[in-house]
Amino acid sequence: MPPSLPALDRAHHLHPFTDFKALGEEGSRVITHAEGVYIHDAEGHRLLDGMAGLWCVNLGYGRRELVDAAAEQMLQLPYYNTFFKTTHPPAVGLAEKLCRLAPAHMNHVFFTGSGSEANDTVLRMVRRYWALRGKPWKQWVIGRENGYHGSTLAGMSLGGMALMHEQGGPGVPCITHVRQPYWFGEGRDQSPEAFGHACAAAIEERILALGEENVAAFIAEPVQGAGGAIMPPASYWPAVKAVLARYDILLVVDEVICGFGRLGEWFGSVLYDLAPDLMPIAKGLSSGYLPIGGVLVGDRVADTLIEEGGEFFHGFTYSGHPVCAAVALRNLEIMEEEGVVERVRDDLGPYLARRWSELADHPLVGEARSLGLMGALELVDPTTGGRFDRALAVGTLCRDISFACGLVMRSVGDTMIISPPLVITHEQIDELVSLAREALDETARRLSG
Ligand code: PLP
Repeated sequence: MPPSLPALDRAHHLHPFTDFKALGEEGSRVITHAEGVYIHDAEGHRLLDGMAGLWCVNLGYGRRELVDAAAEQMLQLPYYNTFFKTTHPPAVGLAEKLCRLAPAHMNHVFFTGSGSEANDTVLRMVRRYWALRGKPWKQWVIGRENGYHGSTLAGMSLGGMALMHEQGGPGVPCITHVRQPYWFGEGRDQSPEAFGHACAAAIEERILALGEENVAAFIAEPVQGAGGAIMPPASYWPAVKAVLARYDILLVVDEVICGFGRLGEWFGSVLYDLAPDLMPIAKGLSSGYLPIGGVLVGDRVADTLIEEGGEFFHGFTYSGHPVCAAVALRNLEIMEEEGVVERVRDDLGPYLARRWSELADHPLVGEARSLGLMGALELVDPTTGGRFDRALAVGTLCRDISFACGLVMRSVGDTMIISPPLVITHEQIDELVSLAREALDETARRLSG
């Protein structure tokens, strides 16, 4: 008998974010096909994909229009670069579309192949900007604990994931991290309002400790995604913006997850009125059908780079790849034609909020929160009401049980997360919530048994 796919996979494939040794005999689950909001595995199970892949399949699976856009572009011009004074129609069309959808002061985009490359590009742009403005000493970038900005060395360094730093060794210099506005996890001794102010004050304290003239930029997601779907208290962003303005510090808003409708606006920056200087994007830009990312650049930075910078000595072979750009452009057109973002804002987001919050009555759930089509459940020990011992890995248990029940949820510690495709229906939201409840019930049974 030839070896099974999981066996071959285990023998040869080093997966991202996977404990290879712990894969076990059964190995990885083989996903074979998908349609709409459902994925199918090789054993014939159908699962509701509550995570839209990795927060990216915003239009859902099996969209023929995106396949056609790719096929047509491959025949027309499968590859050409955008270096050295050349361009092509998909890159131009996508750049124009993105700048029309972005906040009014953002009129340029630099294309990359991924969100990690976008954040590497951000770092180089920030440094270049301050050097051109005659302040090369402005080098420090402030990120947030538990933030995620990618897996390249710069992405890892900007992010604040402890395990990445432990394994990654020294990162890029002059990057530091401040506390995240995670009220349920770290702030419940105060009101959310007071906690939001305290987190903004922590940024100011760090700026003063580093020397107020030395801080170049602050980077954060509008809502922290991989860190645990952390919606900040209402007081947080206005207070942060005031601090950054006080010390003339650039604001980088990582929209890799929050962009393209996830929170019910085209960008999370619009929801929170952030007016960023730089916005890294990826994922939902192409609904994940092909890899593409970029950095939307505000006029302040773009004008300096263009007017004073000469050649920006930076770029990727696949910057603005024509097939990826054609698919991304078609993806954005469909989102506009179908009013996807408005539907999340006016209908699906409020509906999910109502149904998801019902899970707060479950003994394992300490908080059920959602915004747009992103949601989280905080798991707590029903006997104490407090967090479980981390070593019990209750979140991982609940994630695996959820898979077995037919729902893809992600766990970050003991926080369960959902981020389904933006084309999900009310009935499918009902199904998602009832599968999540089934997974919680079974998790509770296993813990007590
Ligand atoms: N930024 C954020 C907020 C992300 O969530 C991610 C990926 O999950 C990245 C950047 C990195 O993107 P990529 O995996 O495309 O490199």
